Amino acid sequence: MSDHLALDLLATPVWIVSLGDDAVVYRNRAAELLSAGLELGDLRNGSHSAHAEEQLAACLPALRAREQLVEIWTIRRNGQGAPLSCHLSLLRQGAGKEQILVEGILASLPGAPFAASLEQGENSLYEKLFRSSSAPMILIDPAADGRIVDANLAACRFYGYDHAAFCGKHTWEINSLGRDVLPIMNEVAKLSGGHRPLNFVHRMADGSLRDVQTYAGPLELNGKRLMLSIIHDVTEQKRLKNELQLAASRDHLTGLWNRRHFIGLVDKARLQKRRNDLDYCLLLLDVDHFKHINDQFGHEKGDEALILLARTLEARTRETDSVCRWGGEEFTVLLPQTDLANAVHLAESLRSAVEQTREPGLPNITISIGIAQHALSETTESLLRRADAALYQAKSAGRNRVVAA
Ligand code: GH3
Ligand code: MG
Ligand code: MG
Repeated sequence: MSDHLALDLLATPVWIVSLGDDAVVYRNRAAELLSAGLELGDLRNGSHSAHAEEQLAACLPALRAREQLVEIWTIRRNGQGAPLSCHLSLLRQGAGKEQILVEGILASLPGAPFAASLEQGENSLYEKLFRSSSAPMILIDPAADGRIVDANLAACRFYGYDHAAFCGKHTWEINSLGRDVLPIMNEVAKLSGGHRPLNFVHRMADGSLRDVQTYAGPLELNGKRLMLSIIHDVTEQKRLKNELQLAASRDHLTGLWNRRHFIGLVDKARLQKRRNDLDYCLLLLDVDHFKHINDQFGHEKGDEALILLARTLEARTRETDSVCRWGGEEFTVLLPQTDLANAVHLAESLRSAVEQTREPGLPNITISIGIAQHALSETTESLLRRADAALYQAKSAGRNRVVAA
């Protein structure tokens, strides 16, 4: 930490975040005061948070291109959640390793920095800019409880209000955060503009919700400090992204979680245990003599048997459990908040259910299961290794049985 001694002397709060595991690897004293006990997820996704990208790693291209990136984080002030604008930049460590430096912007900026100063009037620049734009734009008065002062035609169409009705509304009436958006809006109003848009969910006149990115910057109109917000609808983009993400975490044949996603879930359970001391167990299960079954019934029937097995496992586990196709005819099940005795009980019920499942035209199968309960400070690799050793024992002992490590 001696490298960061200088940062500790700063009054500005500073966090350093490592990518990949999304962990705060360093916070200076000022940051510690504002975020003791809070993890990155709490800071970025708290009730007062707003950001341009959901995943911090997705900011990398923009940061590398030295674009202005700000996020509003939820910190703790006087025991309560409060918003803090933060500026993000890239820190290059040795060997090409990148980390993100997050600096809190504490001082409320006097005056309107870089605020465009415009006059209203029939042929004014404001009218041209505002009226002719095909992008929805609204003008907000942060000092008047976030009142919407003006909205262009594109915005009226997008939200579904006529101009007069829209102008009587407030930001907190169209933002799904409700009045919680006001402290965030006040933070954004302090920023100089020129930064990446932030993500919000907005409510349309008909009550439906849209995912939007809003770019907000200060604008001085007739000498009054206002905030211009340009709205970009990203609902469809977000839906596609979610769909792609989901597809990338599923196994093609069975629709269960795939190995990569499952490891992420186990890591999450490990973090939760560290925080809340909740036991969790892992089952590793393998179909017995599946090679014979393929030889006897053909690969296609073998596939169908695997799909049926997947449905049996899903049907007999809790919603909070996660079932994964580990690969081939091997499956894993994560049992959060479960001790070894309960895991053995569940594994035995799975084993017996599979043994008793009869489906016309499909081979009967049996499974062997190895179980391991996560031990204090154990890595996920070690937990998997122990479950695998238990499975090996179950196979050696004759198959169609459950063994706990
Ligand atoms: P045991 O586990 O009881 O020791 O015997 P096994 O015959 O199941 O073990 P082994 O791991 O040697 O063979 C697994 C077989 O599973 C080999 C492979 O043909 C089959 N298999 C793996 N993936 C699939 C798949 O996606 N579909 C089908 N139909 N068969 C698969
Ligand atoms: Mg196998
Ligand atoms: Mg097998």
